Amino acid sequence: MTDLTSLTIAEAREGLAKKSFSSLELTDAHLNAIEAARALNAFVLETPDQARAMARAADETIAKGEGGPLAGIPLGIKDLFATKGVRTTACSRILGDFVPSYESTVTSQLWRDGAVLLGKLNNDEFAMGSSNETSCFEPVVNPWRRNSSDAKLVPGGSSGGSASAVAAKLCMGATATDTGGSIRQPAAFTATVGMKPTYGRCSRWGIVAFASSLDQAGPIARTVRDTAILMRSMAGHDPKDTTSVDRPVPDYEAAIGRSLRGMKIGIPKEYRLDGMPQEIEKLWSAGAGWLKSAGAELVEVSLPHTRYALPAYYIVAPAEASSNLARYDGVRYGLRVEGRNIIDMYEKTRAEGFGAEVRRRIMIGTYVLSAGYYDAYYLRAQKVRTLIKKDFEECFASGVHAILTPATPSAAFGIGEKGRADPIEMYLNDIFTVTANMAGLPGIAVPSGKDALGLPLGLQLIGRPFDEETLFSLAEVIEQAAGRFAPGKWWT
Ligand code: GLN
Repeated sequence: MTDLTSLTIAEAREGLAKKSFSSLELTDAHLNAIEAARALNAFVLETPDQARAMARAADETIAKGEGGPLAGIPLGIKDLFATKGVRTTACSRILGDFVPSYESTVTSQLWRDGAVLLGKLNNDEFAMGSSNETSCFEPVVNPWRRNSSDAKLVPGGSSGGSASAVAAKLCMGATATDTGGSIRQPAAFTATVGMKPTYGRCSRWGIVAFASSLDQAGPIARTVRDTAILMRSMAGHDPKDTTSVDRPVPDYEAAIGRSLRGMKIGIPKEYRLDGMPQEIEKLWSAGAGWLKSAGAELVEVSLPHTRYALPAYYIVAPAEASSNLARYDGVRYGLRVEGRNIIDMYEKTRAEGFGAEVRRRIMIGTYVLSAGYYDAYYLRAQKVRTLIKKDFEECFASGVHAILTPATPSAAFGIGEKGRADPIEMYLNDIFTVTANMAGLPGIAVPSGKDALGLPLGLQLIGRPFDEETLFSLAEVIEQAAGRFAPGKWWT
């Protein structure tokens, strides 16, 4: 039998329906792969007993011809999603051994459709980071390495565990979240596909909050089709999240293969950065060429406020984080460090429970929201955010259907290599991705080529609100032209 971990979700779905193998066999193959890949540190919790029980249950429904759209498909879940009865930590010491008594809406929809939980995936602490190095469970290792080098590289972040596990074939797909780029940047660093949906498309209920006006859940998988399959189960209206939008969920998979004729793709001139590697420039032109050959029209567009997106994001996101993280005080969740009195207990718990990057964000966020600085920073950043959104609205109103950009300004870098002396070096990773969060728009990262050192690079497509379908159809054209990429297996 072919190695079951090499199948795509679409292929596994067919094999399961034809009874070529069972979900239990498929699940066991992945559990073995996870065990053999502990060097990657992608999983922070493995749930083999639960996985096998869910696989057996899926096999029964499949046998009765009643399997859901994801029946028997083994997935990994980012540790930011609350999973009932299964430890959920956001990879922070402050949550300790917190075991939720509830299930996030997104994961409950995956289980409703028959998926199997393999375990919880590593991420940056509270999803703050671009390299998965801020996790209290230590960094994740990228399954990709530079040609003839054994230096360990980061998988990107904050969904580094999700991207690494999917790329290394430890799970068929994974959930992820994206506040400023955390689905798309790790996807680009690992040659996987990552979709950040329109704000409001997937419920945020039961997901540990970072910056509530920017956070969105989405899938990471190895192909565009698989990403579309997962997305259909994850999306949908949820009355428990007041920002969730009540619109029907389309069959995203059906959008794949649509003609690109009459489609206008914008190339924003502001995304051409000084000092950007030649290879990324070249790949960007290649991507434009592939879409053109498939029938799309390419036009240069301008998004003049792009340069303010990153600075404005680093005001808005920490501001919301400082407010969201106020709840971790030693009273209700996880860690408590006793003190002389209650204030002392709060302070000791928070000082010990939060890592350095999270503390930095709380301090910045508290500062920009404080009396006397609110207008100068927070309010101004919100105004800039409106202008960024308007740039996109005007561009789409001129007839552009989607925008093509590089996903990241570089390929994966070494563990410990960036952001030590200057955190801005790390923040710059999200220069091409934060705009979509600021404007609430959907964005997809798709593998598109490799650099001279053999590392994968990705392109990004940003779409109109709630038009994820167009992004899936465009991304699949790029995937067909670029081919698919898998890392050589060195970790077992
Ligand atoms: N890297 C960005 C940050 O650190 C975005 C993270 C994310 O999208 N969760 O804030």
